[in-house]
Amino acid sequence: MLNKVLIANRGEIALRVVRACKEMGIKTVAVHSTADRDLMHVRLSDESVCIGPPPSTDSYLNVPAIISAMELTNADAVHPGYGFLSENADFAEQVEQCGFIFIGPTASTIRAMGDKVSAIEVMRNAGVPTVPGSDGPLGDNEEEIIALAERIGFPVMIKAAAGGGGRGMRVVENKEDLINSIQVTKTEAKAFFGSDVVYLEKFLGNPRHVEVQVIGDGKGNAICLGDRDCSMQRRHQKVVEEAPAPGITPETRQKIYDSCINACQEIRYRGAGTLEFLYEDGEFYFIEMNTRLQVEHPVTERVTGIDIVRQQLRIAAGEELSIKQEEIVVEGHSIECRINAEHPETFIPSPGKVKLYHSPGGNGVRVDSHIYSGYSVPPHYDSLIAKLITHGPTREVAIGRMQNALEEMLVDGINTNIPLQERIMRDEGFKKGGMNIHYLEKMLEK
Ligand code: ADP
Repeated sequence: MLNKVLIANRGEIALRVVRACKEMGIKTVAVHSTADRDLMHVRLSDESVCIGPPPSTDSYLNVPAIISAMELTNADAVHPGYGFLSENADFAEQVEQCGFIFIGPTASTIRAMGDKVSAIEVMRNAGVPTVPGSDGPLGDNEEEIIALAERIGFPVMIKAAAGGGGRGMRVVENKEDLINSIQVTKTEAKAFFGSDVVYLEKFLGNPRHVEVQVIGDGKGNAICLGDRDCSMQRRHQKVVEEAPAPGITPETRQKIYDSCINACQEIRYRGAGTLEFLYEDGEFYFIEMNTRLQVEHPVTERVTGIDIVRQQLRIAAGEELSIKQEEIVVEGHSIECRINAEHPETFIPSPGKVKLYHSPGGNGVRVDSHIYSGYSVPPHYDSLIAKLITHGPTREVAIGRMQNALEEMLVDGINTNIPLQERIMRDEGFKKGGMNIHYLEKMLEK
């Protein structure tokens, strides 16, 4: 097993990883910026190292400082959490070159999946359904591009191969705008991501966001832990997630799981990963793969009973997958509400001191949070302060438990989006289930 793990992250996910390590008898090292000395996981870990000033570029993204901290503390592995360096292939490469273990896939897998064109190609070759499109980068032949778009049918989407975070994409409604839109997207992509490679795919009007959780051991074994629906989004940011995705037939499900497992076996995927799909009219369309732990992983843990972080740690230690696909059973339903330090109507971030914090509880309630009474939410980072996760035998029970948990939760001193989450949990459309990715924004306009 691993002896000592350094956690290159902060907030609730750093605490989540520290907890898993402690359970497994693994020592932990917290690294933190000067703004984060009071983080809960810093107190709970065996050692801590300050790696720089508050801006993340100088601290949580500071590769030399993190690698020095690994050397200084004699850690043998690094867990990158999500965000920050978690999908940075150069970081993973440097970690391994320095003789440490990166808890995640190989640098070459991260690189291949980070480029959307190559990710789509890998997946298509493995039998994963993708969005009809250019099947590769767009060339210079304008007539060919126009013919392709007409064959697929407008509207189409132009996307940057290196794009991310909802940037570097553009919808084109008609033939007249096509060539110009490609030029604009290319210029933007070059400026933002350093590459002007773009591709074209069909624009889906009312899809849902459904993703599939996988784990591979890097030795050719891979399992699928079911799916999640993350369609409740605002500005491409997930607000509520649930498992399993409502209303998908067992046959459709089995087909998509088989293709995901096959893809992970083919690329000898190592670690936890998520294949993201758009789901429309009963069909799945792959859009990208996240080669890391996701914010919403607890809903999958709740319905399968499998601790995903524990699996990541075991695999990083070189162990083979010990769970067989037949052993994975999805039981009941789980929902996660992201609790952010922000105004529930204006969404303006609300850092500051939490005067009083009361955590909800009861049957089927899990709270992943690093905050406590007296903790100050710094203004420098993501506004996520807690994840409320409920579980029940049915979706209805899980929603009922979430309504209770939201009512019980008390965060005094700063604004939070708890009132918005309460509104979503009472909403008839949400309660029905299976709403598309535009639903929440339309609801907010009302
Ligand atoms: P990013 O890496 O920037 O998050 P994605 O490829 O995951 O980019 O797409 C982000 C979001 O953009 C999707 O969740 C979906 O809402 C929308 N989107 C992407 N591709 C399409 C498409 N072909 N049709 C409709 N919407 C799309």
